[in-house]
Amino acid sequence: MQNYKITLLKGDGIGPEIVNQAVKVLDKAAEKFSFTVEYDEALLGGCAIDATGVPLPEETVAKCKASDSVILGAVGGSKWDNQPGNNRPEAGLLGIRGALGLFANLRPSVIFGPLKSASPIKDEIIGDNMDIMIVRELTGGIYFGERGRDDSSAWDTEKYSVAEVERIARVAFDMAMKRNKKLTSVDKANVLESSRLWRQTVINVSKDYPEVELNHMYVDNCAMQLVRNPKQFDVIVTSNIFGDILSDEASMIAGSIGMLASASLSGGKLGLYEPIHGSAPDIAGKGIANPLATILSVAMMLRYSLAQPEAAQAIEAAVAKVLETSRTPDIYEEGFNKVSCEEMGDLVCAQL
Ligand code: NAD
Repeated sequence: MQNYKITLLKGDGIGPEIVNQAVKVLDKAAEKFSFTVEYDEALLGGCAIDATGVPLPEETVAKCKASDSVILGAVGGSKWDNQPGNNRPEAGLLGIRGALGLFANLRPSVIFGPLKSASPIKDEIIGDNMDIMIVRELTGGIYFGERGRDDSSAWDTEKYSVAEVERIARVAFDMAMKRNKKLTSVDKANVLESSRLWRQTVINVSKDYPEVELNHMYVDNCAMQLVRNPKQFDVIVTSNIFGDILSDEASMIAGSIGMLASASLSGGKLGLYEPIHGSAPDIAGKGIANPLATILSVAMMLRYSLAQPEAAQAIEAAVAKVLETSRTPDIYEEGFNKVSCEEMGDLVCAQL
């Protein structure tokens, strides 16, 4: 029987509550699909600062590297707001992404039918099955380029190598092959030299994926098209800064922040899976957090790191079914059962 080693980084605030529900659902999926999971916990963020003085202890990096995948809750909170920048909980987050070489960030923007009314976009524009996957380059570009400041100016540099663009393009083409075989590469090639290299490199890689329909779009047009006609997209691949902005835009199309999952991948199988929301200190400890983004992150882990696509799909189907009757307070509407974080986890398990 296949056994997987998973490191849990529960983090701060609602982190432990939501990760506990995700673990419960993963255990249920393991039972149903005949595999086993072994867990190890490690410290990241504020809890790590409290215990060890730093947000990312070396032991945490070692444990993550030795596992098949990592599930992360969220980090941060006002208790650590006065820490210097490089010793804040969020520094641990950037640190673990760098230490694990996670260069590809995947953010699905999916509408669950029963939650359509939570979207700020009109029903007829979203349609019945809006499902976009944004693949964002995560360790290059302007966020990591040379920067500086003198008395009267400041600068940041957008720089990409062919190798960096090639590897993220391959992740995106592989993703498109598993979905509807349609890829949109987003750049600003009418203005930026780095975008012209990006576009040429994506075209070169496309020769290895003749079945994928590739088109190119300028980032300003893409920002507009995402709200004008989101259904035209399947997979979008783009640079670090453009992906940062577009993935936030696309995620809001789907409605509530408590529903959105994400994956960060390296070249190998190891990935880090986390909800896109933060540690929600305002509701921590109240038992009312929505665990679905973390549960859906587990589904992504089963699909992209653990090669258990049936289990992934079963979890997603269970979530969709439960949403027909039950809601945590953040997505509550009249006529539904209002449930706690733990009850939501139990309902998804029961449905599975
Ligand atoms: P947040 O995402 O934590 O919360 C924003 C709002 O959404 C809050 O009202 C919160 O109650 C609500 N919310 C978030 N997740 C929810 C869930 N699962 N269920 C129900 N409601 C939910 O963002 P913030 O308030 O700006 O940040 C709080 C802390 O989290 C800060 O310290 C910030 O730095 C940190 N943060 C961490 C991450 C991460 O760990 N990846 C990401 C973003 C923010």
